[in-house]
Amino acid sequence: MTADRPILVAGGGPVGFITALALARQGLPVHLFEAETRINDMPRAATTHAATLEMLAGLGMVEEVIERGYVEPLFRIWDRQSNSIVAEFDFRILKDETPYPFAVQCEQHKLAGMALRRLKDYPNATVEFSARVTALTQFADRVEATVESADGTRRIAGSYLIGSDGGRSTVRKALGIEFEGYTHPERFMILTTTDDLGIRYPGCTRNYITSPDAWFSVFKVSGDERGPLWRVLSATRPEQTDEELMNPDATERRLQDFMPKKSAYDIIHRNLYNVHQRVAASFRKGRVFLAGDSAHVNNPLGGLGLNFGIHDSMEVTTLLGKVIRREAPESVLDQYDLHRRPLNVEFVQQQTIANKKRMEEKDPAARQKDQDQLRRTAEDPALHRAYVRKASLLESVKKREAAAA
Ligand SMILES: Cc1cc2nc3c(=O)[nH]c(=O)nc-3n(C[C@H](O)[C@H](O)[C@H](O)COP(=O)(O)OP(=O)(O)OC[C@H]3O[C@@H](n4cnc5c(N)ncnc54)[C@H](O)[C@@H]3O)c2cc1C
Repeated sequence: MTADRPILVAGGGPVGFITALALARQGLPVHLFEAETRINDMPRAATTHAATLEMLAGLGMVEEVIERGYVEPLFRIWDRQSNSIVAEFDFRILKDETPYPFAVQCEQHKLAGMALRRLKDYPNATVEFSARVTALTQFADRVEATVESADGTRRIAGSYLIGSDGGRSTVRKALGIEFEGYTHPERFMILTTTDDLGIRYPGCTRNYITSPDAWFSVFKVSGDERGPLWRVLSATRPEQTDEELMNPDATERRLQDFMPKKSAYDIIHRNLYNVHQRVAASFRKGRVFLAGDSAHVNNPLGGLGLNFGIHDSMEVTTLLGKVIRREAPESVLDQYDLHRRPLNVEFVQQQTIANKKRMEEKDPAARQKDQDQLRRTAEDPALHRAYVRKASLLESVKKREAAAA
């Protein structure tokens, strides 16, 4: 019987662990495979938005996310040339709509770890590290995954499989689903420092500094035993090599150029990322679903990718729960691709593409127009509310709810 077989989850990033937790809490059997030996703690997502915090509350995680993260109701957009704030946005304008009118800066490996720890309370959940899903076969009543681990190669049958195995997803490729979109020629660099950049940016820990020559964004995360950390994100030039970019002199120069100071920076992480805007042609094939970066990738400006991935988790796990408990026919699973894909294009791809354009716009007239528009938006309460509803993904959740009603 379909319900007796576990739901297989390929990939233990934040989306995979949150997906597994959402299934386990419904009493459903779940088996997660993560290829690596442990949760990846490279600096990637940190911004968790209101709509996602509401979902994490449903999983009993939100208090810990707030406690271990850094609460920030504001974000600011700056003009680097004049060193002035163009617009300040305040999520507190949404306090009548959400119990969480702020963003929480909580690193994604902490989210994954929190979900993993909770999973240990569920005997119906199995988590395997160092276990890579390499192939899939679908049948009328099951899906079989080929898994490689230290014990050799096995085939494991599941009722359904959720591919949360990241942007290079083996699951997506095994299904033959195109990853439509493009990859930028330049890469983004993230530098993490223990230096307190709040001295330079007082009053707000999420700052986007636009510039036609060299934009950057600066934000604070809760960090680790060393205390809070600041991350500086910027673009590199396509022709620059890893060696040119990553050597300590170059990274020091980069930070000094953005924020000159007399002493050297204490840089604890240097990372380069490829930047994509891609969406899978379909988020589902038969018994297999894509969630998170396996289904969509985008630039990190606005902090939307993982947030939307967690929303994917909530949707697919809710639908599967209903079908397996026989509260809904299997056809409701069509809802997943029907809604998630267009919502990603409208709320994640469009916003992040616009955010990148704003950061780097070279045409003075276009920059001026954009800045005038931003100022008007920030000053008008109705426009301000509409802007932060989109930025926090509350609008996308409302749109999905309206479609279900
Ligand atoms: C610099 C940067 C900053 C970002 N900031 C934000 C932000 O502030 N807010 C936000 O919402 N998003 C942000 N993002 C995006 C965010 O990092 C991703 O959306 C997020 O990592 C997606 O999570 P995931 O679990 O889908 O995939 P991943 O985190 O990529 O995890 C996939 C997991 O699957 C495992 N895996 C891969 N293949 C297999 C296999 N075949 N079998 C088993 N396991 C496998 C991998 O080892 C990995 O652990 C940022 C991204 C970058 C690069």
